[in-house]
Amino acid sequence: MHNTIAERLQTAYRALAEIQPNDRATAQLIAVSKTKPVNDIREAYLAGQRQFGENYVQELATKAQELTDLTQIRWHFIGPIQSNKTRDIAVYADVVHSVDRLKIAERLSAQRPVGKAALQVLLQVNISREDSKSGILPEDLLSLARQISSLPNIQLVGLMAIPAPAINGDNQQAFAAMKQLSTALQAEFPQADQLSMGMSDDWQQAVLFGATMIRLGSAIFGARS
Ligand SMILES: *Cc1c(COP(=O)(O)O)cnc(C)c1O
Repeated sequence: MHNTIAERLQTAYRALAEIQPNDRATAQLIAVSKTKPVNDIREAYLAGQRQFGENYVQELATKAQELTDLTQIRWHFIGPIQSNKTRDIAVYADVVHSVDRLKIAERLSAQRPVGKAALQVLLQVNISREDSKSGILPEDLLSLARQISSLPNIQLVGLMAIPAPAINGDNQQAFAAMKQLSTALQAEFPQADQLSMGMSDDWQQAVLFGATMIRLGSAIFGARS
């Protein structure tokens, strides 16, 4: 109950090492710090964590500016993107998981500051075909990938999904479908080999289906209010 952030990180990394098939590189754990104070991020960083995920543009910008002394930190933007909010993402993020249309990709590329490495981009797939969800439908994925691949300041590195909450807690079908899509994408874009899926409640299953990035919020930082 009252474990520290460092202890929760250690627990998650141990569980990840146990579950990870050893013929594969270990999945990256992204600590999702949305709504949590910067001191929680400092605590996780001191414990060795380097990858952090944020959902809200303003929060990303504020935290990134406050934490410039954490020189090895890498910021992942994982939230919905409005086209008038792309500038701060292009400035502060290292990786964006939630690109789902050409206009957003074009703006991120145009607004990426000169001298920074290309912004790494994952395309978010609406794998459960929810009306309300961001994400591109699976059948439209390859044509979007082709369109964005020529943009100069972003680099397509893979796919992301947030499956609909499964009634029985079983997201196997969605994860398996994402794995298939990822394989199809890599046939044309071999560098796009990242697969971001799995959250606090279902990450073990996601790893078994080939997740290379898992996004853990409450498992690391505790429940959000
Ligand atoms: C909040 C969030 C997470 C983390 O959720 P937990 O259930 O707290 O692990 C992961 N991915 C996305 C896209 C999120 O919005």
